[in-house]
Amino acid sequence: MSTTASRPDIRARRLDADALARNFSDLHPPLEAHEALVEADRCYFCYDAPCMQACPTTIDIPLFIRQIQAGNPIGAAKTILSANILGGMCARVCPTETLCEEVCVREVAEGKPVKIGMLQRFATDRVMETGEHPFKRAAPTGKHIAVVGAGPAGLSCAHRLAMLGHAVTLYDTREKPGGLNEYGIAAYKATENFAQAEAGFVLKIGGIDLQTGKALGRDIHLSDLRRDFDAVFLGLGLAGVNALGTDGETHSGSHDAVAWIADLRQTRDLSDLPVGRRVVVIGGGMTAIDAGVQAKALGAEEVTIAYRRRREAMNASRYEQEVAATRGVHIRCNLQPKRILTENGHVVGIELERTVAGEDGRLVGTGESVTIEADQVFKAIGQAFLPDGTDGEGEGIALEHGRIRVDAARRTSLDGVWAGGDCIAGGEDLTVVAVEDGKIAAFDIHAALTAVEKVAAE
Ligand SMILES: Cc1cc2nc3c(=O)[nH]c(=O)nc-3n(C[C@H](O)[C@H](O)[C@H](O)COP(=O)(O)OP(=O)(O)OC[C@H]3O[C@@H](n4cnc5c(N)ncnc54)[C@H](O)[C@@H]3O)c2cc1C
Ligand code: SF4
Repeated sequence: MSTTASRPDIRARRLDADALARNFSDLHPPLEAHEALVEADRCYFCYDAPCMQACPTTIDIPLFIRQIQAGNPIGAAKTILSANILGGMCARVCPTETLCEEVCVREVAEGKPVKIGMLQRFATDRVMETGEHPFKRAAPTGKHIAVVGAGPAGLSCAHRLAMLGHAVTLYDTREKPGGLNEYGIAAYKATENFAQAEAGFVLKIGGIDLQTGKALGRDIHLSDLRRDFDAVFLGLGLAGVNALGTDGETHSGSHDAVAWIADLRQTRDLSDLPVGRRVVVIGGGMTAIDAGVQAKALGAEEVTIAYRRRREAMNASRYEQEVAATRGVHIRCNLQPKRILTENGHVVGIELERTVAGEDGRLVGTGESVTIEADQVFKAIGQAFLPDGTDGEGEGIALEHGRIRVDAARRTSLDGVWAGGDCIAGGEDLTVVAVEDGKIAAFDIHAALTAVEKVAAE
């Protein structure tokens, strides 16, 4: 590639306001009431429903669909939210095509599942419109729990604890609650400030004191929390990012995709956000797809996702890949980054090496190089757990594969400390899984605290 003539072309206002509004509109516009009834009619209300078993939060799907069919969407919402208090966001972001809808008997028999996610959204939207919180708190227990991290795991844990009658202080280092629902999920999946609306809805249960701008390890310390509270839950997510480890990575035009998406999500006017004319995204997961699709939606002319393995190995589902393709994002597989090309401190392209799978399945470079011109390169090669704040003050928390080790009840190695969501080992890095972790931990914290009470009373 001759780069001498290249001048990085990164600028704002590539598209007018109408085009931006179109590109960032709701990925799946909600169902109208009559459409929801027609869709609910397609359900067989299976016994031992496979969809329910595939849901990480075990929502009673046939029951809530029957409630919609019977004209009771508020009852349906209660069914959903009693299992998953972030059922509204999960209806928008769950990869249903690899969870409940993949195993729906209608999918297996006809290749057309019941639109479970859309029906879930229909019901949860109705209850949120009422402005009422559907659950009441149990009588106060006198126990006080610290929850650190107001992402899906922390919100879910805090809500369930509050419902069980405990007082909760919910800390987060950011300004707004919601975690990646607010700072990470693609803008076209959570339109109209839904993440904040939902966080407000969750907190309406009462008994949760939200304290933002409070970082564990800086403003609050694990040893103090363990001393001052009856239990601690950590839902810290993954604050670190993996590095490519190639030349050019620190130059202007090279970005961490998650940080760039956070900026996009917080930008009031999307037309202010600069984007390159030619963009390359490195990675194969949801973050790579989201960065690529949103760069294209901002007006980038050419967007290429370069993934090092074959397409079937991508973490992004087949459906997510289709979304990228239909929005004009080009996915190229079996390409691993060698170096980011720069001129005068700016990114002008990326050099990649073709790969093949070796006999043992390991990735082998062929030595053949491919160069793609680019004004911007986004790295979407995974995030990492930063244990800062969970160690260094006495007893450290045990890790496994770089994340917090927990047992089935989400208990960590430290007495009185539970954890869940992306920061624990063995999870799937999905919103719905984080919600389930928070719920499981809350029930176990409740059981542990009430067991202590019983022993004390005996
Ligand atoms: C770009 C992107 C797109 C995604 N898209 C999808 C999707 O479409 N569907 C899906 O199911 N999943 C998606 N995911 C994954 C999903 O967002 C996560 O699995 C989920 O948010 C995990 O929830 P969590 O509560 O564990 O962590 P987070 O959402 O990361 O929340 C952690 C919270 O802890 C706070 N925190 C961190 N450190 C500290 C500290 N030291 N002190 C105090 N507070 C702290 C953070 O500010 C944050 O609010 C996506 C992820 C990314 C990065
Ligand atoms: S598997 Fe499909 S048809 Fe059966 S209960 Fe679930 S949504 Fe209904």
